Amino acid sequence: MALIVQKYGGTSVGTVERIKAVAQRVRRTVQAGNSVVVVVSAMGKTTDGLVKLANDISSSPSRREMDMLLSTGEQVSIALLSMALQEAAQPAVSLTGAQVGIVTEATHTRARILSIETDRIQRHLNRGEVVVVAGFQGISSLTDFEITTLGRGGSDTSAVALAAALKADACEIYTDVPGILTADPRLVPDAQLMPEITSDEMLELASLGAKVLHPRAVEIARNYGVTLVVRSSWTDDPGTRVVSPQPQPRPLVGLEIAHPVDGVGFDTDQAKVALLRIPDRPGIAARLFRELAQQDLNVDLVIQSIHEENTNDIAFTVVKESCNRAEAVAAAIAPALRTTPDPRASEAEVVVDRHMAKVSISGAGMIGRPGVAAQMFETLAKAGVNLEMISTSEVQVSCAIAESDCDRAIAALCDVFAVTSSPTHLGTRAQAQLPDTPSVRGAALDRQQARLAIRHVPDRPGMAARLFRLLADHIISVDMIIQSQRCRLVDGITTRDIAFTVSQADAAAAREVLLAEMPQWGCGEVVVDEAIAKVSIVGIGMVLRPGIAARMFEAIAQQGINIQMIATSEIKVSCVVAQEDGVHALQAVHEAFGLAGDTRIEVSA
Ligand code: ASP
Ligand code: MG
Repeated sequence: MALIVQKYGGTSVGTVERIKAVAQRVRRTVQAGNSVVVVVSAMGKTTDGLVKLANDISSSPSRREMDMLLSTGEQVSIALLSMALQEAAQPAVSLTGAQVGIVTEATHTRARILSIETDRIQRHLNRGEVVVVAGFQGISSLTDFEITTLGRGGSDTSAVALAAALKADACEIYTDVPGILTADPRLVPDAQLMPEITSDEMLELASLGAKVLHPRAVEIARNYGVTLVVRSSWTDDPGTRVVSPQPQPRPLVGLEIAHPVDGVGFDTDQAKVALLRIPDRPGIAARLFRELAQQDLNVDLVIQSIHEENTNDIAFTVVKESCNRAEAVAAAIAPALRTTPDPRASEAEVVVDRHMAKVSISGAGMIGRPGVAAQMFETLAKAGVNLEMISTSEVQVSCAIAESDCDRAIAALCDVFAVTSSPTHLGTRAQAQLPDTPSVRGAALDRQQARLAIRHVPDRPGMAARLFRLLADHIISVDMIIQSQRCRLVDGITTRDIAFTVSQADAAAAREVLLAEMPQWGCGEVVVDEAIAKVSIVGIGMVLRPGIAARMFEAIAQQGINIQMIATSEIKVSCVVAQEDGVHALQAVHEAFGLAGDTRIEVSA
């Protein structure tokens, strides 16, 4: 007999009719010979309604009372669903998070799950009952019994965590869309359903997928190897399978907090090529990377930071063996990229470093947890390692460093994050996971971000560490971090610009914190731009194929859109563009990778 955890979202239990329909589906699953644990959200827009009530009373309601309030929504739906099951002659029992023993941290409104008791659920299952568990909630510890919630959208996380704790055979997330789509269908009407996606890709697409699946749920599924399916509550269509690699065994205590970083990767076969002072206008990146792809050169990290006056720098890494050819391509293009007809004025220049290494930390746990990147930078600074380039994605931070520093860097990182290291040679992961996987699985747009840049940060170990620690201490989560290539001498000290994005809600606070501190640090101006959008493509298959970044840059250039910043991970390329260009860029990129189809996916607003 299989054990299945099914989770039904708010819309799926939005009315009495729908609750009855859910009861029928659950009953069918039981009749097919399965034990079933059901996790439900609050009915329809109940949680939003409760938030509104609170805000009508107080502009800053206490987090504790918010948890007390919001957790009631789920208590309504578990009771009603259990009644509906009983009415359909299916024995069932409802349990709150506290009754189950879903133990969380004491941080109200955004608690992480520490452990889940399984005894009581197991007892009910053994009696042939369906157990209906309230999603989104837990209890702070078994002594003070504070009700906590996991953060908006957290029922997915409850469901997957229960599946992990119960060692369930599958976790099915039932929702009002057919599964995970290649892009947000409200922005890209011809987005298609993905039959399958890896959990790594799903995490990198957090900004696309978050509405469908809570990123923390994906993290747990990946860490514990939970078989996860996202499908529609209205049909019997198979939906999207979220595939995870065989996980390393890990304890179920400290479930969501044990390892924010679960791997340190390195690659000593890296050389860096940088093109400095190239014009900041549409089509430049496209041209460079198209040329490289035509020479069959596979680029790894790509970084373009914030422009200075009207020029920009692009740096990328390749395997050492490709360095000469990559340099030749860059050198051949450079003269054509003069900013002015006067060759003496700001001339494009190619800089090469043949002895580079890349170290990276990865782990879903870093999403929404400020301080993980800072900890990496601090560790490297203490080890005396200078960071030449920094590029981050949702679940990875990569730094290009001198090859001679690599061993020291790895040892320090493994020590601090208590993990082992492994070489991240291009392609191994992709080959291992899915043999005929598409290059690009999906595209996402994030319009909720603002960009900050600090000019002329002294180029010495420890500056990035200090900077991101400062932000972390103010609970400001940083998304994409880019340290630029260009060096400037300011009063005899080499400096570089560091740019990063934060959510728009945090932009003003971040700016204030920086303005207060930067003058003492000897840094230059702080520049803020809230009118940006981040377009990303994700696909585990891209590591094997040259030309993916080129195609993305071309698609954007063809729309006449300027790329302001570029950052990559192994399976993701992100470009920052002006906010007003975001949707167009997304549509163009989606089209360019052939992700569009003609099945019209219906979505409710
Ligand atoms: N009801 C909660 C919310 O709306 C949790 C959930 O539905 O996942 O955020
Ligand atoms: Mg949801």
